[in-house]
Parts: sequence; C-alpha cells; structure tokens
Amino acid sequence: MSDSPPVGVLALQGDVAEHLRMLAAAGARPVAVRRPDELEQVDGLVVPGGESTTMWRLATAFELMEPVRKRIGGGLPVFGSCAGMIMLADRLLDGVGGQQTFGGIDMTVRRNAFGRQVDSFEADIRLRDVAEPPRPPFHAVFIRAPWVEQIGTGAEVLGTDAATGRIVAVRQGSLLATSFHPELSDDARVHRLFVDIVRDSR
Ligand code: GLN
Repeated sequence: MSDSPPVGVLALQGDVAEHLRMLAAAGARPVAVRRPDELEQVDGLVVPGGESTTMWRLATAFELMEPVRKRIGGGLPVFGSCAGMIMLADRLLDGVGGQQTFGGIDMTVRRNAFGRQVDSFEADIRLRDVAEPPRPPFHAVFIRAPWVEQIGTGAEVLGTDAATGRIVAVRQGSLLATSFHPELSDDARVHRLFVDIVRDSR
C-alpha cells in the first residue's frame, strides 16, 4: 500500500520491538532489518536506542556498516533515537576506542553526556512543528543519553532540554535524531513525523 511505506528497524540490539510497534501506530509497515538484502527492501530505517558500542560491533560483524552508509548517502530517511542518534553523528565524543558511526548528520554528539549527571530522567520537550504550543510538549524519556554539542550549517535544531539548554533533537533533510526514546512512550508524534518524511521522500 503506497501510504504504508515499509520502514525498517535495525534489529541487531536495543529496543527494536518498541520501534516496530510505534511505526505500525504511525501508519508504516514495520520490518526488522538484520541483513543487507532486508535493508534493500525498506524506504526508511530506524536505528533504535540501546548501546552504540555493541550496535557498531554487531553492524560490523553482520556486514551492515557500509550498506547502511551507502543507503544514507543515497538519501534513505533514517531516524535514530539515543544510541541511534550516536550512530547518525558525523563526529562522536566519548566513544570507546575505535568506535565508528554510520554518520550522515553534520553534528558532534557526546555519548553518555547526561549520564554523567543523572543516569536517566524524564522531561517535557518542545519540538519544532511537532510539539510546540498550542500542542502539548513531548514527554521525553532519557536513559544514559547523549547530547548534541554542535551542529553544522545543514542541520537544524528541533528541540532542546530546557533544564540544561542542550540540543536533544536534530533534523538534517530526511535524517532525524533524538537523544531521548519516543519509542518508550505512547506518543507517536515523532514516529509520525518520520513516516511523513519517508512518504515525502518516495
Ligand atoms: N549510552 C548508550 C550508548 O552509548 C545509549 C543509551 C541508550 O540508547 N539508551 O549507546
């Protein structure tokens, strides 16, 4: 069905089931992606929350690093939450030795940045076009979350954490990243935004 685009969730590690559920709620046809041939079938990809060091190691072992990079380079819409945000960063701070990302968004992300203050917390976030007045804010769950220290000219800030002033949501073209976990709430607005991006890019 043309209005239910096939959207993959990178299913190596992390909160895959939660993203699959939210994508279905947002009107997409969710697909678990573990192999390069499965990656070829999707019109969009979610990189879930989890642990970016493990995801990088598994993506290397499953020979997915280059195929994902290639599809990002070809314009595939990708949404990364938390560890997924780290995976979409062109520049990473506080990674483990040799840690690689897919890249794609011209931003510098610091891993475990909020974690140094408090491991996890929840906060109401305003997100441009999605959760700003008169709409209610987005109730965001942060778990050992990264933050964005700097973005390049091609990227735009969608949201900041009011308490720290840190950037927690970024968009660059059809690439989207959040420090928090929209998949761990019942609020499908971020997933709907992403599915709209996927539809627009077809
Ligand atoms: N700290 C994790 C990492 O480095 C991310 C945490 C998360 O996704 N909840 O990948």
